Amino acid sequence: MAMNRADLHTHTTASDGMRTPTDVVRLAKKAGLAAVAITDHDTVAGVAEALQTGQQLGIEVVPGVEISTSEDGKDIHVLGYFTDLHDKRWLERLATLREGRESRNERIVGMLQGLGIEIAIDDVYKAAGKKAEAESVGRPHIAEALLRKGVVGSISEAFDRYIGAGKPAFVSIPKVSPFEAIDWIREAGGTSVIAHPGLYGADPLIEALIRHGADGIEVYHSDHSEEDEERYLKLAHAHGMIITGGSDYHGERNDVSYHGGIGNRTVDIGVIRQLKARQGKRG
Ligand code: AMP
Ligand code: ZN
Ligand code: FE
Ligand code: FE
Repeated sequence: MAMNRADLHTHTTASDGMRTPTDVVRLAKKAGLAAVAITDHDTVAGVAEALQTGQQLGIEVVPGVEISTSEDGKDIHVLGYFTDLHDKRWLERLATLREGRESRNERIVGMLQGLGIEIAIDDVYKAAGKKAEAESVGRPHIAEALLRKGVVGSISEAFDRYIGAGKPAFVSIPKVSPFEAIDWIREAGGTSVIAHPGLYGADPLIEALIRHGADGIEVYHSDHSEEDEERYLKLAHAHGMIITGGSDYHGERNDVSYHGGIGNRTVDIGVIRQLKARQGKRG
């Protein structure tokens, strides 16, 4: 069993995951994990509930977030752990990112309408089960709306035909740069980790982010190959970076699990101590 193991990357219904924060923590406990991090896209709205459930069940919950950033037209995700959840400037910065998502989502819907598809933004919010302002809505919810309308037969078809990068209704979120996101996380008292570097094809950028002060690299991820893991393990060692890993669990949407199952990528819980030890100074 997964004794002393931590899955440091999961999503909940606070963003585009299918399970509530409570259920994600329950599933982590059931999988035998000693710790699980909640890392929703551009929001910490799921963290408080998860922390509470963690206490009840006796499993450590690590407060996290996954910031959507962009550099050279590429989507780059930056994980932030142990940020101050009461820091007003930090919460406002995350709120700005979610507002950017909202206008992006509306533009995507407009482009889909331009392609002759009958869809309204309310269909997307309905598919997202929306919820609170502090929760973030994304393309998986748009895909879900297209699926419910019968426009596509699967979530992946929605990405492949319409809303994936480079497809006819693709619009990227107006984002911060990954350099700024690293600064934000440090200024919020947290520890920054470059998420799934193997998915970008941008290793020079990864090295620039390391020089800029990223604290860690997500070496182990559901979509990383063995070669990716070896390459980034070496890079992390060479620069004295914290080595993290996680499943990127989102639950199942339309019977398909995107990324991986909870606990399918883990690190030793000792890594959590390293994340705490590197926490940034606020100000
Ligand atoms: P967004 O952040 O709103 O641009 O949406 C991006 C998210 O969509 C990613 O973080 C993934 O979780 C998800 N995603 C990307 N491609 C697919 C796919 N083919 N099927 C299901 N989910 C996807
Ligand atoms: Zn996601
Ligand atoms: Fe990601
Ligand atoms: Fe993720």
